[in-house]
Amino acid sequence: MSSLPISSSQPTPLDVLGQVFGYSDFRGPQQAIVEHVVQGGDALVLMPTGGGKSLCYQIPAIVRQQAGHGVTIVISPLIALMHDQVGALTEAGVPAAFLNSTQTYEESSALEKQLLRNELTLLYAAPERINTPRMRGLLASLHERGLLSLFAIDEAHCVSQWGHDFRPEYRSLSLLHETFPDVPRMALTATADHLTRQDMIERLKLEDARQFVSSFDRPNIRYTIVEKTDATRQLLRFVQTEHHGEAGIVYCQSRKRVEEIAGMLEDAGIKAMAYHAGLDAKLRQQRQDRFLREDGMVMVATIAFGMGIDKPDVRFVAHLDMPKNIEGYYQETGRAGRDGLPADAWMVYGLQDVVNQRRMIDTSEVASEEFKAVMRGKLDALLTLAEGTRCRRVSLLGYFGEASEPCGNCDNCLTPPAVWDATEAARKMLSCIYRVQQASGISFGAGHIMDILRGKPTEKVVQYGHDQLSTFGIGADLAEPQWRGVLRQLIASNLLRVNAEAFNTLQLLPDARGVLKGEVSVLLRQQAASTKAERTRRGSKSAVKTSAKGMVEATLNAGALERLGRLKAWRAEVAKEHNLPAFVIFHDATLRAIAEQAPQTLQALSGISGMGVKKLAAYGAEVLRVCAQGSS
Ligand code: ADP
Ligand code: ZN
Repeated sequence: MSSLPISSSQPTPLDVLGQVFGYSDFRGPQQAIVEHVVQGGDALVLMPTGGGKSLCYQIPAIVRQQAGHGVTIVISPLIALMHDQVGALTEAGVPAAFLNSTQTYEESSALEKQLLRNELTLLYAAPERINTPRMRGLLASLHERGLLSLFAIDEAHCVSQWGHDFRPEYRSLSLLHETFPDVPRMALTATADHLTRQDMIERLKLEDARQFVSSFDRPNIRYTIVEKTDATRQLLRFVQTEHHGEAGIVYCQSRKRVEEIAGMLEDAGIKAMAYHAGLDAKLRQQRQDRFLREDGMVMVATIAFGMGIDKPDVRFVAHLDMPKNIEGYYQETGRAGRDGLPADAWMVYGLQDVVNQRRMIDTSEVASEEFKAVMRGKLDALLTLAEGTRCRRVSLLGYFGEASEPCGNCDNCLTPPAVWDATEAARKMLSCIYRVQQASGISFGAGHIMDILRGKPTEKVVQYGHDQLSTFGIGADLAEPQWRGVLRQLIASNLLRVNAEAFNTLQLLPDARGVLKGEVSVLLRQQAASTKAERTRRGSKSAVKTSAKGMVEATLNAGALERLGRLKAWRAEVAKEHNLPAFVIFHDATLRAIAEQAPQTLQALSGISGMGVKKLAAYGAEVLRVCAQGSS
């Protein structure tokens, strides 16, 4: 049997939490989940990214192994990350390993023997691996010996086509239940929309599993959605003033754009790399490793990057293009601030984003009509979030079925946007589109309609005689950006649609009638004003940080900052020696607490969150020495 850093032979979950992981309290529903699974119950765990899902299966794995049940099999979609996950467990003193296609036959055989000797607590494997005859044989042998303790299916939404990372290999995981009905199973995911959840339960045959649904709130993340004016410049200013020297992810839609933005950031002296599916697998792996291992790296990526990235100190996630839906947005932004320290989710979006996303759905040749309808509904919900004036968090959580109060930590709470009564402007625009359509028998695009409204006699306007219409020049009082705002919000509110199959022309939708008749009023976000307020807020905030520190370091005093610097340098060396990311040795939050409290004894050090028994024994003396260096 393995020798865990635990004092009792029958440890409780709380013993394991403290002694192995160095934490004093369970978070949210962790304790209830752990207890249920330790008892052999099946569980479906829905918890936001960063909520602490890993401990929900790692602690039962340890407790059940100590009680003689054998190994826990963790099914995880990303081979690339298994190495680091196993590394983190090993650092904490937990016997763990992974089986994947990078291993030689001999290595796999050695592991299999270890398993049959009951020497491992956790085994990670990819879903395609689980279905190989060899693996099934191994599982059967373990089961026969009573050494198959638990199956934990991570990122379980991958089983559903309604989720955003569908993986066909996940479908066959239902076999686990059929073959080993008495082995407890748990499925974990951060994707919680109703459709995906139902589908997941059916596909994995988890109808009888107990469901644990956490609050999806991530209070340390500040949500900001701003109007796109000059995305590149906006991003640069955001990174320079808010996140100097900090790690972050920038999402863009196309590979070309990813390359451009990464280059732009580098030219501005920011450590940045590009990541997309067009790069070869080896280069992608290298870049991902650097992102995980080096401090303060910005990854500019398409959504190909990120699933399972469990780097805890990502300080911001920026979207330069709008995602497809709220699930995607929430999953992506959730990669910020897993360590619980302040982090930013920042997005710029504009009319073109709305048009592009609609077009991608409308023109998809593979999707069925049913699928398209679902996707349109999901996009609409995201647009409503972006255009909305109420608390972003209230809207986001509301989408996942959770009620909440205004948060005080999003742009709309911090700088309530002014609204203006756009009923008149909306009527003008809708009636202009209507008249043009009537007069010419065909529809026109946004640029042409705005020219008519603003009374610009362009060649095209004159050619079609649209300068003779009663609506010509009736909107000269508003500037083009304001009309753009009106247009975007009319599209977001489903009063207008952009027809991608007919040269992006504008078409009225049935709900437009109410506005035209004056029965419905339209209140819109005052974009220009809020942008200005945004600048003021950001300006004053960055002024506080005179020495251009990142948002987390900004609150430490000089002595603590110095200690933190030394501790980070020490950690980088250790991480390099062990070939592991720095956060696997100690989290930023742990180093930060050490730097702040400057403990002088091992006893004092052991009280710091994240300092487990094994780590204290391995690194405690060194940490005290590094910490004290400056004061001698
Ligand atoms: P998820 O998989 O749900 O995204 P993780 O399991 O990676 O989240 O946990 C997020 C972070 O929170 C990790 O750094 C983890 O060590 C930390 N964490 C989890 N549970 C606790 C706890 N009870 N106390 C303190 N930190 C915790
Ligand atoms: Zn808010």
